[in-house]
Amino acid sequence: MALVDARNKQKVQSICTRAIHAGESRTKYADSITTPIVQTATFTFSSSKDIEEYTRKGKEHFEYGRYGNPTATIAEKRLADLEGAEDCVVFSSGMSAITTTILSLVKSGDHIVITDDSYKKTLEFCRSYLKRFGVECTIVSFGDYRALDNAIQKNTRFIFSESPTNPYLNIFDLKKLKKIAQKHNVLTLIDGTFGTPMNQRPLEFGIDLVLQSATKYLGGHNDILAGAVLGRKELVDQIRALHKSMGGVIDPHCCYLLLRGIKTFPLRVQRQNESALKVAKFLESKSSVKKVYYPFLESHAHYAIAKEQMSGGGGVVTFELHGSLEESKKFLDALELCFIGPSLGGVETLITHPALVSYYDYPREERLKLGISDTLFRLAVGIEDVDDIIRDLQNGLDAVQ
Ligand SMILES: *Cc1c(COP(=O)(O)O)cnc(C)c1O
Repeated sequence: MALVDARNKQKVQSICTRAIHAGESRTKYADSITTPIVQTATFTFSSSKDIEEYTRKGKEHFEYGRYGNPTATIAEKRLADLEGAEDCVVFSSGMSAITTTILSLVKSGDHIVITDDSYKKTLEFCRSYLKRFGVECTIVSFGDYRALDNAIQKNTRFIFSESPTNPYLNIFDLKKLKKIAQKHNVLTLIDGTFGTPMNQRPLEFGIDLVLQSATKYLGGHNDILAGAVLGRKELVDQIRALHKSMGGVIDPHCCYLLLRGIKTFPLRVQRQNESALKVAKFLESKSSVKKVYYPFLESHAHYAIAKEQMSGGGGVVTFELHGSLEESKKFLDALELCFIGPSLGGVETLITHPALVSYYDYPREERLKLGISDTLFRLAVGIEDVDDIIRDLQNGLDAVQ
């Protein structure tokens, strides 16, 4: 059964087609149209000869669930195809992908550079846990390319950044990042979760590894946790080897849900791009809204670079209201369609209030210093009718006044 040659198809077929078919053979078990879920922890050999052909002659054969599973292999091939990567490993969560990748690249005595506008748990891992193993970490201010250049030492292994970032959707200039990394001969890692391979393709800018929390847009239904790392085979092999020890493997059934989610991923993101831009423009037109952050709004600080390196602004809109914390609560409590909850990228519209959730335990002054005001909201636009979403937000704004 020949697998579809992803890299050839990529040249001719649209991402919408590849999201449905890439990575799979045309004929499947029992002529099923969908991907079989190989729900097993282990695999069997038919004879001693069969074992030896696998161990000594490199015959393709699955051995044990932590070392690989056919359903996971298909997800890996499909994700690699969409991202334009040579290879991919899938994980049980985005954080499992990030921590396993980082650990596979460093040893005691190494140094890494990460930008301050990164996922809270990624920063915590780099700042606190890596230190225990003798890996030093310099955190540089996002967008300060000179500081980034200066932060690199002889023992620096890689630069890690997110783009777009959370919650302000800052955009990293990937060309500048690559130039700095090349000058010092260090690797570049981009957490591209907010961008997704629909809107941003870091590997085409020469970035070495892309990380994805597939929990978000790729899965797309707020019903699974999954992660992936994508890049050159030689690097991904190294990560896959450690993955076998770290063991953050994705369950076969979860993999099926991921594959099913990916089928509609381009459709959903296209819709979310359009809806989020509309919502952003709506909010920007309201006098009760102090500021809107959306990379494809001309008012965004990184509009020019976003337009240059992204093909869509994504589904997240961040905004600040005029008023107080009490008024923010009134706004939140008046919403009926948007659910209050963390995460993003799913079909349901979600809204979070960072001051009340992720930063609830910070002293107010400190939180304000981090740019998390009393009236800041992050809206993760779903695929409901955009007019319904806008009506809901309007009701919220009316409740404040
Ligand atoms: C959610 C998220 C993660 C973590 O992914 P999980 O799947 O929740 O482990 C990492 N980076 C970004 C940018 C995220 O949004």
